[in-house]
Amino acid sequence: MNYLYDLHTHSNCSDGQLSPTELVTLAIANKVDVLALTDHDTVVGIAEAEAAAGNDLHIISGIEFSSVWKGRNIHVLGLNIDIESPALQSALEIQAKARFDRAKTISEKLAKVGVPGAWEGVQHYATGDNIGRPHFAQYLVDSGYVSNFAQAFKRYLGAGKIGDVKQQWPELETVIAWINAAGGTAVLAHPDKYDLTRTKLYTLLQDFVDAGGTGIEVISGNQQPAVTSKLIRAALDFSLLVSCGSDFHSSENGWQTPGKMSELPKGYKTVWDDWNILTG
Ligand code: AMP
Ligand code: MN
Ligand code: MN
Ligand code: MN
Repeated sequence: MNYLYDLHTHSNCSDGQLSPTELVTLAIANKVDVLALTDHDTVVGIAEAEAAAGNDLHIISGIEFSSVWKGRNIHVLGLNIDIESPALQSALEIQAKARFDRAKTISEKLAKVGVPGAWEGVQHYATGDNIGRPHFAQYLVDSGYVSNFAQAFKRYLGAGKIGDVKQQWPELETVIAWINAAGGTAVLAHPDKYDLTRTKLYTLLQDFVDAGGTGIEVISGNQQPAVTSKLIRAALDFSLLVSCGSDFHSSENGWQTPGKMSELPKGYKTVWDDWNILTG
């Protein structure tokens, strides 16, 4: 039996559009068999996702950790983690504080370039206290500073711009250690999104493996076959387990819907091979 795995999705517990229940309903409609909810730096949506999934879908407890590596913002997925583990609990506290402090800093920086009121503004868009750059993007759009998300990132929030504040995030090796301590599989998320040369990508992968990382997201959303080939090659070169996910956030801004990402080439060792799920 060929099961459909989507191991990278977001809910409104971070910067996604749908509640965990709505996400699960959409994933079931799209014939996903195994879904990882991987909100940014939080697991608060997992219980709701599991309750909504019932017997129709298998939920993998996941998280997408923010980290820095050589001054860049790198995302690492923790898949099949024990969300009750003390290691994860303390990591969550650290990340929540980092995200809160960062949001304050972003607000101050935006005020200095003529965008006041961002701190108050983002409170309307974030569910709870998990504030991310997309919430700032929404504020910038709704307040008329930019006309869409792409512009918000291009002018204010993207790499190298005033709102790209990342000094609060832990080092790459720290988040990998958290994931391993929580019994999970550490997977380098969307390696093609970091605009790295092949040499830099391989330096990153060497550091990732040295720190205890074991997986690589070979498929992220809808991608070009050449990217898939490049990442399969990298997986083989570093003996990494392969993973795939839509990185679904919403039905807007060009995100893929759950389960509708490019196909993962067969014949490679996957992150789920050793999870012992969906047998029988
Ligand atoms: P943060 O977790 O606060 O650092 O925000 C990063 C998130 O911003 C990513 O996970 C995406 O959801 C979103 N994002 C990053 N770049 C863009 C972009 N160019 N357009 C739209 N959304 C983006
Ligand atoms: Mn996001
Ligand atoms: Mn990401
Ligand atoms: Mn993501």
